[in-house]
Amino acid sequence: MADVVIVGDGPAGLSAALFLSKNGLDVVLLGCDETPAHLALVNNYLGIPQITGTELLRVGRQQVARFGGKLRHQTVTALEQTDAGWAAVTDTNEKVEGRYLILATGTKRDLAAGIGLATAEDGSVVNERTGRTALPGLYCIGWTARGHQIELVISAGDGAAAALDILTIEKGKPFHDFDVVPKGE
Ligand SMILES: Cc1cc2nc3c(=O)[nH]c(=O)nc-3n(C[C@H](O)[C@H](O)[C@H](O)COP(=O)(O)OP(=O)(O)OC[C@H]3O[C@@H](n4cnc5c(N)ncnc54)[C@H](O)[C@@H]3O)c2cc1C
Repeated sequence: MADVVIVGDGPAGLSAALFLSKNGLDVVLLGCDETPAHLALVNNYLGIPQITGTELLRVGRQQVARFGGKLRHQTVTALEQTDAGWAAVTDTNEKVEGRYLILATGTKRDLAAGIGLATAEDGSVVNERTGRTALPGLYCIGWTARGHQIELVISAGDGAAAALDILTIEKGKPFHDFDVVPKGE
């Protein structure tokens, strides 16, 4: 069983996977890589003058893999609550289990509806600032949890926020992913 299963491989899911795998959790990311970010020519991501969405995603996937996150090209058809946490049921009928599950499926909200998550008037899933939902161990982030006010950097930020919340629970104290420049550089 993984520590965290993430469903959705857009900027939100990839960002959560990066923070979690970089900090030692066992992460499985399931997605079909059909994010609209592939259409974007990105001029509004702080610190990056210009990049295509496809290149941003390519580098993001590499970062996740470098830290040991497992990226699997797979469609998820249902979510199930288990004794230990959550299971994502794939279209090949496999159950991928994790103690936590992060839902980041963009504007596709059928999986969220399938487990009865509350939604706002615009159809977005109701969550907390950390991405927590009312269901234990279940987070919902990025476009799935937001209405029309969405950008790549917001989804990536949501992924980071959910990851830090999980890492804070796991480590038992407030967790920051702060790296520093080595002395002399
Ligand atoms: C034409 C266009 C141009 C844009 N340009 C910009 C821009 O210049 N700058 C900017 O900041 N933003 C831009 N955006 C917005 C940007 O694309 C979104 O903010 C961003 O993609 C949201 O990320 P997300 O991870 O929340 O969701 P998504 O990117 O939608 O990712 C969801 C992922 O989940 C996967 N998925 C869904 N359901 C399942 C399932 N059942 N099983 C497995 N996987 C599943 C999808 O395949 C997808 O890969 C643009 C959007 C469009 C449409």
